[in-house]
Amino acid sequence: MFEKLKDLKTYEAGKPIELVVREFGIKPEEIIKLASNENPYGPPPKAIEKVKNIANQMHRYPDDSFFELKDALSVKFDIKNSNVIIGAGSDQILEFAVHAIAPKKVLMAGITFAMYEIYSKQVGAEILKTKSITHNLNEFYEIYKQQKPEIIFLCVPNNPLGECVDSKEVFEFIEKIDQNTLIVVDGAYQEFASYKDKNKEIKPKDILKYPNVLYTGTFSKAYGLGGMRIGYGIANEFIIQNLHKLRPPFNITTLSLAAAIEALKDEEFVKMGIVKNFEEMEKYKNFAKENGLDYIDSYTNFIVLYIKNSTKIAENLLKKGIIVRNMASYGFEALRITIGKPEENDKLLNTLKGMIS
Ligand code: PMP
Repeated sequence: MFEKLKDLKTYEAGKPIELVVREFGIKPEEIIKLASNENPYGPPPKAIEKVKNIANQMHRYPDDSFFELKDALSVKFDIKNSNVIIGAGSDQILEFAVHAIAPKKVLMAGITFAMYEIYSKQVGAEILKTKSITHNLNEFYEIYKQQKPEIIFLCVPNNPLGECVDSKEVFEFIEKIDQNTLIVVDGAYQEFASYKDKNKEIKPKDILKYPNVLYTGTFSKAYGLGGMRIGYGIANEFIIQNLHKLRPPFNITTLSLAAAIEALKDEEFVKMGIVKNFEEMEKYKNFAKENGLDYIDSYTNFIVLYIKNSTKIAENLLKKGIIVRNMASYGFEALRITIGKPEENDKLLNTLKGMIS
């Protein structure tokens, strides 16, 4: 029993605030959580208001067609409702895609979003990774030619490193791949990347002409709805119809649906968060330069700082109520830090300064 799961590690989620309260007796309001790439400015105010107003609908299943949200996404991206599938987080769309194909081989970057590997191993797939930890699409292509994987994951921009390939490169790559291979373009942080640099923007509409490309997006990051678990997939109708065969009924809660619909109307709030993200990220870059630390130029809402003894430092930060992500499990000493609010970033950097000097 469970033979196929023998080598499968459980996904290690960012540590929750509750754990720090329990283990170190720190008050929840004093804890700074910069480990899960959430929106530090909270949910969009319009979404909060809406969820309060419809709390008395909790006894009803949601509209299982998710028509209103699909409609709003279709308008936003200039596509059709039938090109959209809604998931409990974009995670669920990734899961549908892998389980729908049950591939023998899957290709991804050397270091990338852990769930690609986890879902693939669940169906017994062999995992192929580029030697390069970031996305080197030439290397992707070489491995593709030799191994013919059935799924290729491109994380644009990439979590947990933060780098981003140009969209031009992505499309040139897609053109070279046989139509029997599904290419998943994970755009969980696209809102950040496309704001920082237009060359990184992937328009979901542009992938529709390919019969073998699935774009995934989320409300968990720029839209501030991580706790609501809602995301989406966009592709041509044939892919979407097939992914729907894996979708359980009512996979999105009534409240999450409503929150996502309102979040799409609150573009101003979303934009504010993105603008502040990159303003605040400068503090981290300056800190790195001043202290002789390397960092990875980031197109997301987090930054990777290379720091010696990152395990010890992450532990010490935790004791002070600051949660960050240690990268040691990926094989190098670094911290991945979600960009927080100004006061959170200041406190973290001051505390970190004391630990490295
Ligand atoms: N893709 C990437 C690259 C991510 O970093 C994440 C969340 N950490 C997801 C997908 C899944 O996000 P969600 O399920 O919250 O939409």
